[in-house]
Amino acid sequence: MLSLSLSLMLAAASADPVDAATKTARAEYEWFHAHPELSNKEVQTAKHLAHALRGLGLEVHEGIGGTGIVAILEGKGEGPTVLYRADMDGLPVTEATGLPYASKNAGVMHACGHDVHMATAIGALSVLAATRDTWSGTVIFVGQPAEELGAGAKAMVADRAFGRLLKKHGKPTLAVALHDAADLPAGQVSLIEGAHHANVDSVDIVVHGKGGHGARPHESIDPIVIGAEIVMALQTIVSRRLRPDEKAVVTVGKFDGGTKRNIIPPSATLMLTVRSYGPKTRKVLLTEIERVAKNVAKAHRAPKPPTIVVGDGLPSCKNDPQWTRKVRAAFEKELGADKVKRHAPSLGGEDFGVFGTALGVPAIMWKLGAVKPARWKKGADLPGLHSDRWAPDPDLTLRTGIRTVVASIRTGLVQ
Ligand SMILES: [Zn+2]
Ligand SMILES: [Zn+2]
Repeated sequence: MLSLSLSLMLAAASADPVDAATKTARAEYEWFHAHPELSNKEVQTAKHLAHALRGLGLEVHEGIGGTGIVAILEGKGEGPTVLYRADMDGLPVTEATGLPYASKNAGVMHACGHDVHMATAIGALSVLAATRDTWSGTVIFVGQPAEELGAGAKAMVADRAFGRLLKKHGKPTLAVALHDAADLPAGQVSLIEGAHHANVDSVDIVVHGKGGHGARPHESIDPIVIGAEIVMALQTIVSRRLRPDEKAVVTVGKFDGGTKRNIIPPSATLMLTVRSYGPKTRKVLLTEIERVAKNVAKAHRAPKPPTIVVGDGLPSCKNDPQWTRKVRAAFEKELGADKVKRHAPSLGGEDFGVFGTALGVPAIMWKLGAVKPARWKKGADLPGLHSDRWAPDPDLTLRTGIRTVVASIRTGLVQ
């Protein structure tokens, strides 16, 4: 169901702007899907998106935080500001969907569905633009680059031009975003209160040893053996240092060392991804990683402690509980309660959390079902996000995306 004022207006116009918006979004979706660009190289993508938004009457600013864009839509009068974000980058994946609108850019694909996010944005903003005499306030739309690198949101927030626009239009009272989902049928959405994406930290550990001949290990200090023991000892942090109900992951994704089978190298490198929700858990993980690495190395007489570098991490994404309840109610009114689900939090990363954390703004992110309902019922062999076969059900996904974006933004504005 649509809000009362919007329903009355639509009855008068005897046409649902969501129908027209879905049609527009479908055409835009096919364009975006066929023309994916990698993170921080979203040049044509940003140009296309900016052009479409200018066509809707929005004031568009380009080149923010790299290829990012900010577009402003004002309602009929003064009111709160709502920030709405869609990400723009594709992935280095060779598409295997066989779709007529498959990627034309070899080796690049919108395998995470950021094309859905952009097309939904054009559709949703067209509805809000067409109904601007029914709401007051300002919508700040953010077309964000480089989500897949966890870098785009930070770059935009760090850009002074972004700060100036926020100052001019007022600090947002709410930030909203969606992500398409491969584990939910099209027509449904899912949102939860609290943390839904994890703190993401990268840790590099360089283990220092003493190189030598593979046949004379007693004359060397083998960093590969030390590194292997560190890998195993790290596994006890989550199982033996955290409370059993705390969720966290320590994964060593890369172990690099050596040049030849009969040479003991002077050093070896471990590359970790570390996931958690709360700041306390995060601190325990990072402290314990350092303690384990240093002490294992010491036990093996390493000539010096390992060099440990903790990268610039991503904050977890948390849905503000009060706003989640309000937005859930709006979604239930819009789609029907049976279409609005809950899901388990993910230890995946998402840099939308940066906008909430850096700007001090309550944020909401929800999952937008994108699997063809008939395919969902069958259940077997469903490709996931980042798969070369990821192919959302465009019309129903975009329609539901547009309806929920409009409903969430209107929740934060004055009707
Ligand atoms: Zn992704
Ligand atoms: Zn994504």
